[in-house]
Amino acid sequence: MKINSLRDLYIEQLHDLYDAENQLIRALPKMAKESSAEELKQGIEEHLEQTRGHVERLEEIFERIGEDPKGEKCKAMEGLVKEGSAILSEDMEEDTKDAAIIAAAQRVEHYEIAGYGTAKTYARLLGEDEDAELLEQTLQEEKETDQKLTELADDINVQAAEGEDQETDAEADETSTPRRTRKGSGKRAA
Ligand code: FE
Ligand code: FE
Repeated sequence: MKINSLRDLYIEQLHDLYDAENQLIRALPKMAKESSAEELKQGIEEHLEQTRGHVERLEEIFERIGEDPKGEKCKAMEGLVKEGSAILSEDMEEDTKDAAIIAAAQRVEHYEIAGYGTAKTYARLLGEDEDAELLEQTLQEEKETDQKLTELADDINVQAAEGEDQETDAEADETSTPRRTRKGSGKRAA
């Protein structure tokens, strides 16, 4: 697509967001499945539902523009998803994996926040107030999700850090019982 104006750029950004959201609809179920903490799992599942709504809002905007929403690949989201799934395939203790999922999810949310913030600003400048409203609603949901992830991280990162302490304790005292069984916990004893 040739970009000759802010309107062209706006539409290009919308295509990018549309593909990014659709990639997330495919990626989020795996992240939920890999999560151990119930609130994290639930939070991701809720955000999957919201994400379907984000796609619908973009479709509504494209319908007004009279364009097919498909046709662009968001390489940035592709990279974020790839990095996220690479870390998920690592053998990790539950709390540590949950912390890794939060880290990946927050990268995604920040990317979306940047994208929707820009698109909303363009929509306002172009006088597309209805679009701006829809983009603002999604932007708020992305921000709330990011906030929720920060709150979950408060507990989960601490638990992951405590897991480290226990590993150290277990090494010092072999009779101590670790709070959770850890895959590969015997590795360093060998
Ligand atoms: Fe979204
Ligand atoms: Fe999101």
